[in-house]
Amino acid sequence: MTFLYEPKAFIDGRWVDAADGLRFAVRDPADDSLVDEIADCGAEEADAAIAAASAALPSWRARTAADRAQLLHRWHALVIENIGALAKLLTREMGKPLGEAAAEIRYGASFIQWFAEEARRAYGETIPSPWPSARIVTSRQPVGVVAAITPWNFPVAMVTRKAAPALAAGCTMVLKPSEDTPLSSLALAELARRAGIPAGVFNVVPTRRAALVGDRLLDSPDVRKISFTGSTETGRKLLARAAATVKRASMELGGNAPFIVFDDADLEAAVDGAMASKYRNAGQTCVCANRFLVQDGIHDRFVARLIERTRQLKVGPGMAADTTIGPLVNQRAVEKVEALLSASVEAGAQIALGGARHAQGELFFEPTVVTGVTTAMPLWSDEVFGPVASILRFGTEDEAVALANATPFGLAAYFYTADLGRAWRVGEALEFGMVGINEGVLSTEVAPFGGVKQSGYGREGSSHGLDEYLDVKYMLMGGV
Ligand code: ADP
Repeated sequence: MTFLYEPKAFIDGRWVDAADGLRFAVRDPADDSLVDEIADCGAEEADAAIAAASAALPSWRARTAADRAQLLHRWHALVIENIGALAKLLTREMGKPLGEAAAEIRYGASFIQWFAEEARRAYGETIPSPWPSARIVTSRQPVGVVAAITPWNFPVAMVTRKAAPALAAGCTMVLKPSEDTPLSSLALAELARRAGIPAGVFNVVPTRRAALVGDRLLDSPDVRKISFTGSTETGRKLLARAAATVKRASMELGGNAPFIVFDDADLEAAVDGAMASKYRNAGQTCVCANRFLVQDGIHDRFVARLIERTRQLKVGPGMAADTTIGPLVNQRAVEKVEALLSASVEAGAQIALGGARHAQGELFFEPTVVTGVTTAMPLWSDEVFGPVASILRFGTEDEAVALANATPFGLAAYFYTADLGRAWRVGEALEFGMVGINEGVLSTEVAPFGGVKQSGYGREGSSHGLDEYLDVKYMLMGGV
């Protein structure tokens, strides 16, 4: 394979081992084979990365936006040039089908391109002054050194959604990738180096000791911002810790996405959307449909079609050409799906399809359809993060909206209807950061991705994504 990374930390433009010599294994979820053994970093490497990012900040910030944009454009081009090798690496460490891995890399790269373009549009403003002898201007300045902590479900895209706007804005970054998928982020660092992004601007500290490195980043007064994607539970801990140094924070946390199908919906379109929203990445995305709410009049037809289509999914290793559902990421993930499913079945849910581990191996789970789900069941209230479609029947529009909103989470929601008035009413009433109307997939670099309530705050992508890494400065000029 083309050289893409060394199995080490990437700090100040160099590959470094953990000072205490520790390493940890990255395994392929499809067959548990060893993908690589890499440095298991600790406090020393975290501190070195913060020092490197701090040292690189003044000159990176001082460059023109056009300069930074040019380097990001080169980085984007290199990611696209290496898409084949990157996709294989991603599939091996994470498990998703190779076609999905390539799609993720294109999607991930699109953020680098988008923010290369946005870098040059970090405009300020002039404000009519209340004093005749003074003028008011604002400018937007980089926040400073940013710490990023990312999950395993999109090992490339979750990194570029943070690194690209941060670097575009003039910030430098220390990234702690997920212990399950650190290799893709090391490859991104190597490509950034080849693109000419200076030493210290983008540092990667892989570790199996997440809290040790995380605490170091959070406690440092030199780190001015934490950008996190992961579970609400972990997000809460990080926020509490970041409070001591009053860091800025972007929190992309858990979801519990409702997918509502009204009687007047186009059935085939709704099933297409459901398939894409539910089963992408084997159900392991924070915007995956987690709860299907289906109106009485269309319920049975929807369930029948969903089962028919779900049966056609091909479970297998991500490297096999015809696979549409890969393994889940690890044992914990499979156990969670099993636990939610069995508790819900005990409470009266019916398994209409699937419902067990798949013969392919330990971490493979059968695409599953469950009906008769009620609000008392854990499949309703918890994020399943697996290929399980849970279906609840409802009667009226008001009931659907109330059910959809009855969760502490507020990331993505979807609904299908042919009624324009209803599209507006329901779209406005849903307490979610993102709403797909007659669409089951809504992520794109040009639109703001993010949640409300306990799904977090901050937006990634779009022009709003750059704001997360800029502070507004107000200057008053007197004596005019
Ligand atoms: P999941 O359970 O889906 O893996 P997590 O929120 O636990 O979600 O993980 C997301 C990211 O947060 C990973 O990079 C993980 O290593 C990191 N993480 C988990 N716990 C901590 C912690 N206490 N401090 C810093 N990072 C953490």
